Amino acid sequence: MSASRTNPGDGPATDRAAAIRDHLRDAIVDRRLGPGTKLSEHEVGALFDASRTVARAALQMLSFEGLVRTERNRGAFVANPTPEEAKQVFASRRLIEPGIAAQACAKIEPADLSRFEDQLTAESHFLAQRGPEARRSEIKASGDFHLLLATVVGNPILFRFMEELVARSSLVIALYGRSGASACGHSEHLEIWDALRSRDASRASTLIIRHIDHIETDLDFRLRDPAVLREVFAI
Ligand SMILES: [Zn+2]
Repeated sequence: MSASRTNPGDGPATDRAAAIRDHLRDAIVDRRLGPGTKLSEHEVGALFDASRTVARAALQMLSFEGLVRTERNRGAFVANPTPEEAKQVFASRRLIEPGIAAQACAKIEPADLSRFEDQLTAESHFLAQRGPEARRSEIKASGDFHLLLATVVGNPILFRFMEELVARSSLVIALYGRSGASACGHSEHLEIWDALRSRDASRASTLIIRHIDHIETDLDFRLRDPAVLREVFAI
């Protein structure tokens, strides 16, 4: 948050940093930048044609979201969440998302319903495709379903919480996911959407808790960073 606490007049630089933050966040969330990858201010600045100051601000924003870890004298790295942190992310989602689902049932408008339909169509489209590109798009689309739910509530602070939790979840899934997919069941999203459509708050809340449980069940904490294993075995 303090990254946005800049002096008046710093607007464009802050916007620039936020845009770089968004690009980097996407790359972390869809696993193009794996946990532990070094993110040097110099390289980030050069890549996005921005000053080191702006690159540093972008990295700082990601550090506040828990996606980047900063080490003194060593720089910034894509975070490598511990099993304990991973469990805390899902525990937080179990507390927050049933409330979001219930509120969404009360606030949903016909226009939102069609946005959900588009979202679910996109999900099934990516699911039907093969290859890493489709997999990345599917993971992104799965997270977007949860963000859409938060959008319906119309509370920007809550939305920002969810943005952080969804991003952290994707990183955790990248690190510990057993199936290698998003672990967000498309059929469960359909059921949640059905509960929303019938404005059944208690069913929507129950379904979302079950859904989060299933995502967490797919994690295997015995697996550490597979990249480290590859290095060890030189494969
Ligand atoms: Zn999901």
